[in-house]
Amino acid sequence: MPVRTVAIVGAGIAGLTAALAFARKGVAVDMIEKAPALEEVGAGLQSFPNASAVLDKLGVLPALEKLWFEPDRILLVSGSSLKPVSSVPSGTFARQRWHMPHGVLHRATLQSTLLAAVQANPLCRLYLGQQLDAASEADIVAVTGRVPDLVVGADGVWSALRRTVPGAKAPRFSGNMAIRFVLDSATGATVFDPTCVTALLGAKTHIVAYPLREMNAFNLVAILQGGGDARSWFRSMSAWDLTAALAAFSNWNPAIQHLLATAPNPTSWPLFQVADGPWHVGSSTVLIGDAAHAMTPFAAQGAAMAIEDAFELAAFATGTGPLAPALAAFEQHRRARIAKVRARGAFNRFAYHARGPVRVARDIVLSMRPPETLASDLDWLYGYRALDEAPVSTPRH
Ligand SMILES: Cc1cc2nc3c(=O)[nH]c(=O)nc-3n(C[C@H](O)[C@H](O)[C@H](O)COP(=O)(O)OP(=O)(O)OC[C@H]3O[C@@H](n4cnc5c(N)ncnc54)[C@H](O)[C@@H]3O)c2cc1C
Repeated sequence: MPVRTVAIVGAGIAGLTAALAFARKGVAVDMIEKAPALEEVGAGLQSFPNASAVLDKLGVLPALEKLWFEPDRILLVSGSSLKPVSSVPSGTFARQRWHMPHGVLHRATLQSTLLAAVQANPLCRLYLGQQLDAASEADIVAVTGRVPDLVVGADGVWSALRRTVPGAKAPRFSGNMAIRFVLDSATGATVFDPTCVTALLGAKTHIVAYPLREMNAFNLVAILQGGGDARSWFRSMSAWDLTAALAAFSNWNPAIQHLLATAPNPTSWPLFQVADGPWHVGSSTVLIGDAAHAMTPFAAQGAAMAIEDAFELAAFATGTGPLAPALAAFEQHRRARIAKVRARGAFNRFAYHARGPVRVARDIVLSMRPPETLASDLDWLYGYRALDEAPVSTPRH
């Protein structure tokens, strides 16, 4: 049976992208979001060409390009000496190699751009301030007034809908936390090259910094071990919390230590991940984004995977064949991609946080490889194009 109506639970990056992707296929969409208003939460995000290609297909790329910043390079730098270790070209190079831009922006900018497109689409309805704790038809109809053909759980790492998928795994603390804050651009530019994304590498720690053009600011995220396992997305840090966390950066360059110690309004993010498990129940419910497979940010691809999931789900679910096998095919197809991205994240974690002889070897290997060959390692990731139609092997009538 073709899908005519979907209910999407959660209006984050995955949910809003899915709404646009389904509407583009002619499907009516009800979005159910627990927050009473979609506020400016979160921090910086990088949209690599694989995600930008989907945003382009959905018609929001031109609006984003007016707001975001396209870095010239991703610069890998020693956290102690601040000397460059290596770099991967981006900017014009990314557009030529992967045929799409790499942009950096605030999550709120991406969310509000997607939201404006959803609100302008007559096939999409948004219900704010409505928390769903299960995917029961009665609960959904009570909010939307109509029975959906499919429920999409896009309700993030602490997904309630995941609990309705038999065998789905609970989130687990990764052992790492992130400290995120935004600096004014003049302060950021005293330490970081404002034309680049800078990744500073240290033992068991790393920092990523880049400009947020639309806010005239710099985004900074510091990753370290520890951080507790509080069940939260993020929380404000007290001066005491910050001082305790900064012990992990005691061997870092004093300029970076000073930036961290004087961080304005720092927030701490315990990093949780959701291990491999089923994402769908028959033909009724399917999970996407962090609800399905939250991952650590070492490959900076969490939101990108949510965006790819959303677009490809619409492709698989709108075939003319039965929905349950189409959802199974979607899950199998996406699982392979997510596994590769997770493996890349694990590799980055190993390389970024190396110490002792491994760090020395890493720096030698990276300095010997021309930047273009480092870029070619990423073709499978950034050159990926999300499917607009399900492959022919998916059952269709
Ligand atoms: C430090 C850090 C850095 C990162 N950097 C990057 C990066 O550079 N690039 C990148 O691609 N990704 C990055 N990510 C990952 C990215 O932020 C997430 O993967 C992405 O936001 C997940 O989107 P989502 O829509 O699945 O979930 P969310 O953004 O969490 O959205 C879920 C939505 O569902 C709503 N909701 C929850 N429960 C319910 C309910 N019961 N009923 C109704 N509504 C509900 C929530 O209010 C929310 O609006 C980073 C993450 C971290 C922690």
